[in-house]
Amino acid sequence: MSDPITDLSHRLGRVRDALGEACDHAGRARDSVTLMAVSKTRPADAVRAAAAAGQRDFGENYLQEALEKISALRGEPLVWHFIGPIQSNKTRDIASHFDWVHSVDRLKIARRLSSQRPEDRPPLNICLQVNISGEASKSGVAPAEAAALAGEIARLPGLRLRGLMAIPEPDSATPGAPFAALRELQAEIARGLGASGELDTLSMGMSDDFPAAIAEGATIVRIGTAIFGPRE
Ligand SMILES: *Cc1c(COP(=O)(O)O)cnc(C)c1O
Repeated sequence: MSDPITDLSHRLGRVRDALGEACDHAGRARDSVTLMAVSKTRPADAVRAAAAAGQRDFGENYLQEALEKISALRGEPLVWHFIGPIQSNKTRDIASHFDWVHSVDRLKIARRLSSQRPEDRPPLNICLQVNISGEASKSGVAPAEAAALAGEIARLPGLRLRGLMAIPEPDSATPGAPFAALRELQAEIARGLGASGELDTLSMGMSDDFPAAIAEGATIVRIGTAIFGPRE
């Protein structure tokens, strides 16, 4: 008999094993990569089951359902990451309830998040989303504009710029290429920022491509399907 909680903890165990193997293969310490469980569309009970199995970091794309889960799981020592598109009228709730935002690609949104971050909370951790594969339809700042935007964001008092995030198009011939490009862009931006930049985060890699992302330096992988099963 299969039971959903046992299935989830088995899948989580398999993902942790694969993540550890990818780190070993890349010659990296296993604790150099944080596993974010992407819980969008999943009920609070699924988050609770993953938390009971030791999962701490969760990623959400849709504000309303995220707020319900954050509230339902209050009291658990969880770290919440916002990873979806951001509309201006949502910034206050995002700044109030999340620990990280990975999908900042405009200065206007960054300014609002900074000014709306509650004063009794530490600065909001930010990753700049970069359109590393260059499709017109995707969100993310163009690579050529990322350094200027990073410079502006690094000065905002309510935010702490941590690094870059990307959702590259799958590239079957050279799966590591977009991840390497993001790593190189981050190194270039860090040099430009000098002492004001302590960029320690590369948010890249999902269920289908996280080993390649880890080989190229990912420090946070964002994994939904491989942990929770297929989305409806
Ligand atoms: C949904 C989503 C993921 C997780 O995708 P899976 O393929 O289910 O692992 C990661 N990052 C972002 C930004 C997402 O929207």
